[in-house]
Amino acid sequence: MLEIATQFKKNKLKLTPQRLAILNFLRNTKSHPSAHEIYESIYPTFPTISLATIYKTLKTLAQVKLINELNLGEGNFRYDGKTYTHSHFYCNKCNKIEDIEIHSLPLPSIKNALERDTKNKIDSYEMYLFGVCEECLLRENKLWFNLWIELANM
Ligand SMILES: [Zn+2]
Ligand SMILES: [Zn+2]
Repeated sequence: MLEIATQFKKNKLKLTPQRLAILNFLRNTKSHPSAHEIYESIYPTFPTISLATIYKTLKTLAQVKLINELNLGEGNFRYDGKTYTHSHFYCNKCNKIEDIEIHSLPLPSIKNALERDTKNKIDSYEMYLFGVCEECLLRENKLWFNLWIELANM
């Protein structure tokens, strides 16, 4: 809380209850929600808050790097309360985003190699992995299994 207050002060932002609620919500969820999902979670506590305020707050928090905007090509952003470098897995079936923190991934050495080869200075990097999550795989396997049982009993 004190740390959040300091960060708000440092960025010359007013610490409003709504801003704090959105930031806390994002810091305590692993789900990488959309603005709409954030709105639905915040609304019961702040019934007067509008979706427009949520969007504006998210923009502001992202600008001062208190949160991250993730663009996975869905046409809208997803939001992340974790601002340190980490990678993401996106499920193409259920649109779930999971954090991937495999420290054995040689991302820093890839960055160094790219800087050397391209002569560009890379300030930040992240990796997106796309596929089908474990839950969806299990569900699909079950569907196929049930279909197979049905066909076998025909
Ligand atoms: Zn899935
Ligand atoms: Zn994340």
